[in-house]
Amino acid sequence: MAQSREEEFQPEEARDRAMVDEEIFPDIFKIAQTWPVSGPSGLTITGEGLVVVDTGVGFREGEDRVRKIRERTEVPFHTIIYSHGHVDHVGGASAFIKDAEDRGHPRPRIIGHELVAQRLDKYRMLKGRRAYIASLQFPRPQDRPSARQDWASVREPSYVYPDTTFHDYMEFKLGGLTFEIYYAPGETDDTIWVWIPERKVAFIGDLLLGGCPNTGNPLKEQRYTLEWAENLERIAEKKPDFVVGSGPVISGGNVEERLLNTSRLLRYIHEEVVRLLNEGYWIEDILERVKVPEELSDKPYLAGNYGHPTFVIHDVYRRYTGWYDGNPSELFPSKGADIAAEMLTITGSEKVIEKARQLQGEGNIQLALHLVDFVIKGTEDESARSKAMLLKADLLDARAGEVRNYIAGNIMRTSAGMLREEAG
Ligand SMILES: [Zn+2]
Repeated sequence: MAQSREEEFQPEEARDRAMVDEEIFPDIFKIAQTWPVSGPSGLTITGEGLVVVDTGVGFREGEDRVRKIRERTEVPFHTIIYSHGHVDHVGGASAFIKDAEDRGHPRPRIIGHELVAQRLDKYRMLKGRRAYIASLQFPRPQDRPSARQDWASVREPSYVYPDTTFHDYMEFKLGGLTFEIYYAPGETDDTIWVWIPERKVAFIGDLLLGGCPNTGNPLKEQRYTLEWAENLERIAEKKPDFVVGSGPVISGGNVEERLLNTSRLLRYIHEEVVRLLNEGYWIEDILERVKVPEELSDKPYLAGNYGHPTFVIHDVYRRYTGWYDGNPSELFPSKGADIAAEMLTITGSEKVIEKARQLQGEGNIQLALHLVDFVIKGTEDESARSKAMLLKADLLDARAGEVRNYIAGNIMRTSAGMLREEAG
C-alpha cells in the first residue's frame, strides 16, 4: 500500500497543522482535535465567560480539550455551541459540564439547532448499526469488525442535548462580542455556523473539510449538496478574515477562494446530475458521465480524500429519485447467490478465478473484484470459495491504494480483514 490511512485523509502539511492549537486573536483560538478525524473546537475567551464551538468525539477527547483550555484560562464556560449533531462535535460536552461542576461554576448553556435532538434520538435508536458502520469507516487497530458481531448490545453513548435551540437565526452578546448563529444545512440537516462580526471570524464546523465535501457518504443518510453550496456562498458574503472549519484555520485570500471553489464544485455536480436526470439517465450512466472540470479537480483542498465527487453524485441522485436503478430486472430481484450459482454452472469456479487473476495482473482490479464475487456468492465448493475470498482480500487492499479515499479505503481494507478471517 502506497499510503497510510492518515495520509489519505489529509495532505501532510494540512494534517500537521490540523493537529495543533492555533491562536487567531489573543482571545480566540482553534483547539485541535486529538483524534485525527474529529473536528476541532473554537474557543472565545470573554470577561463574562468562555464560548466554545464543538466538543470532540467523546468524554475523553472533551476532557483533553478542557485541559488545554484550562492551561490558558480559569474563566467559566458560559456557552457551548454545537456546529451540528455529529458525534465528534457533540460527544465531548459532558467533560465541559463536569469541569463546571468540579469548579462550582454554573452549568454552561448548550446551543444547537432545533433538529439536533431528533438526530441524537435517531443515533440512540440505531446504536448497533452505527457501531457497525463506525467500525468500517473509522476502524481502530484493536477492532475486528464482523457483520455477525452482536452490534445491538453495544453500550449506548451518553449525549448532552442542547438546552437552547432555534430555527433560522439567533444571536447573543457576551463580553463585548456578538455571536451570530445561522442555520445552514449541508453535511447535516442540523448544521449551523457562528459569526463574530467584531473579529470577522467564522466557525463553520464541517462545512469545510480540507477536501471534497462529505455529501453522499456511502454509509450514511441523505445530505444537502445544493444547500451546502448556497451556505458556503453566504459565509463568503461576510468576507471573513478567518474561518475555523475542520482542519487548519483558513485566513486571508485563501478564505474566499476555498469557500467559493468548494461551492462551485458542489453546484457543478448538482447541476450535472439534474441535467442528466432530466435527459432520462439512470445512476450508472450518470456516474460515468459527470466529469469534474480540471480547474476544480486539481485543487488539493477539493481532493476526494474523505468526501468524494462520486459520493456527491450519489447524494444528489438520492435526493431527487427513488432506489430504482433503471433495470427492471432489479425491482424484485433473485438472490445474488442464486444468480451467481447459475453463472457458475456455465463457467465453473476455476475459470472465473483464473480470469480474475489475469485481470489483476493487467491492473484491472475493479473488474477482477466483480468476477470473484460470482464465486464467493455462487459456489458450494468450500475450497474454491476460500480461494476466491483470499483473492478478493488482496484485490480490496490494492483497490484501497488506488482510490485514495479514507472512507472507501477503510471499508475495503476492513472488509479484506473480515474475508481473510472467514477464509481461515
Ligand atoms: Zn460532521
